[in-house]
Amino acid sequence: MSSTVRTRFAPSPTGFFHIGSARTALFNWLFARHTGGKFILRVEDTDTERNRDEYLQVIYNSLRWLGMDWDEGPEVGGAFGPYKQSERKEIYQEYLKKLRDTGRTYEKDGAVWFRLEGERYTEFDSFLGREMEKVKAAPVVIDDLIRGRVERAEDRDFVLVRNNGEPVFHFVNVVDDITMQMTHVVRGEDHLSNTSKHVELYQALGAPVPKFAHIPLILKTDGPGKMSKRDRGALIEEYQNRHFLPAAVRNYLCLLGWTPKDGREVLPIEDIIGQFELSDVHQSNARFDEKKMAFINQQHLRALPVETFAWLAAPVLQQAGLVDEKTDENYLQAVLGLCQEKAPGLEVLADVCRYFFTEEFPFDEATRSKLSKKGDPAERVRQLLPALEQLPDLRDAAAIDAAIEKTAAQYGAKPGEYFAPLRFAISGVGGGPHLHDVLRVLGKEKVLTRARRFVG
Ligand code: GLU
Repeated sequence: MSSTVRTRFAPSPTGFFHIGSARTALFNWLFARHTGGKFILRVEDTDTERNRDEYLQVIYNSLRWLGMDWDEGPEVGGAFGPYKQSERKEIYQEYLKKLRDTGRTYEKDGAVWFRLEGERYTEFDSFLGREMEKVKAAPVVIDDLIRGRVERAEDRDFVLVRNNGEPVFHFVNVVDDITMQMTHVVRGEDHLSNTSKHVELYQALGAPVPKFAHIPLILKTDGPGKMSKRDRGALIEEYQNRHFLPAAVRNYLCLLGWTPKDGREVLPIEDIIGQFELSDVHQSNARFDEKKMAFINQQHLRALPVETFAWLAAPVLQQAGLVDEKTDENYLQAVLGLCQEKAPGLEVLADVCRYFFTEEFPFDEATRSKLSKKGDPAERVRQLLPALEQLPDLRDAAAIDAAIEKTAAQYGAKPGEYFAPLRFAISGVGGGPHLHDVLRVLGKEKVLTRARRFVG
């Protein structure tokens, strides 16, 4: 076994790439990067009936989107390839022969079985309803880096190659981990129960046993169940389509079962790499929290340099049909500058800033009725119009305040009673960037046109 850390992500491309797989890949990647080791991608595609190339492409695409570059594997190569199990048949034959030569296999019913070492006895199996041959094998001890000491004894021989000639998962998985010189096997907790079989195979092959780390499950937002492919937020592709920042998704995935020592939850990947230890991964299950994911995404968006935000946001607005080549670049930058602080995510950016780009923006009825409780908003805007018309432009916040104060005094109202109606008249909503900023960026002409239209 190599002295540099070698970890691997070993997906079976039988379905779309989901959050649990992404997190397993991520913990492997983080550990490799933390230790200056290597992160390997290996495709476990022996189940020819369920594997689809389409799924494989999604895995590559999602790993790259999340910034998890692999040092060896499909599409990049490496010294221990091929990295797809479907291309490693000869290697499995060779290892099968090793086991056969040392008397650890036998054939039964067309399949090749692994022979456990230990005293044999028969026992009635109530599930199968017949006598079964069992083995008193020495228990296997696993010092799991996350779960701690786990002891388990296999009590039955198991199949290595099915009667259709296909080698089984346990066998190829172990052969690959041996030949690819893995030092650490970091994978989902659902594989913990397989590990004793795997250790039996390592020992039978005279190979060093890697260190194991089994990561706890991800539970769905509510209820006791495990997050499934059908749950909202389960597929990585979905985040890509919803314009989440990959750095934010990756940051959130890190928090599913691991907590940064320094207490920060939003942090750059370099800092996560610096702190990440497998032994700090929680033993208890993690729970998926979509709101937290959205919050972390928003924090990452806010922290971007404004140019980067604009670079990401412009195509989103284009897609929504709000901007095109004719849109004034300075105007676009000014709007995006305001929206960066406020937008909960790029996913909703078009909705949040639609009114900057079109006269056909909707009016939020809930806001209208809330405002109407304090008097007719159209009346307030009507009172304010003459003072706004007199201003040379709407760039001067102090001049705008003065115009509002003058109007308020004239009608025996408070200045505060004009802000919300004016905002509603020109944007159709009750919140957003600071009103002075909205007025300045929209400009006098648009503001007055909208205010007049609102007044009717
Ligand atoms: N192909 C297995 C899976 O997708 C990988 C198991 C392992 O990492 O050892 O669950």
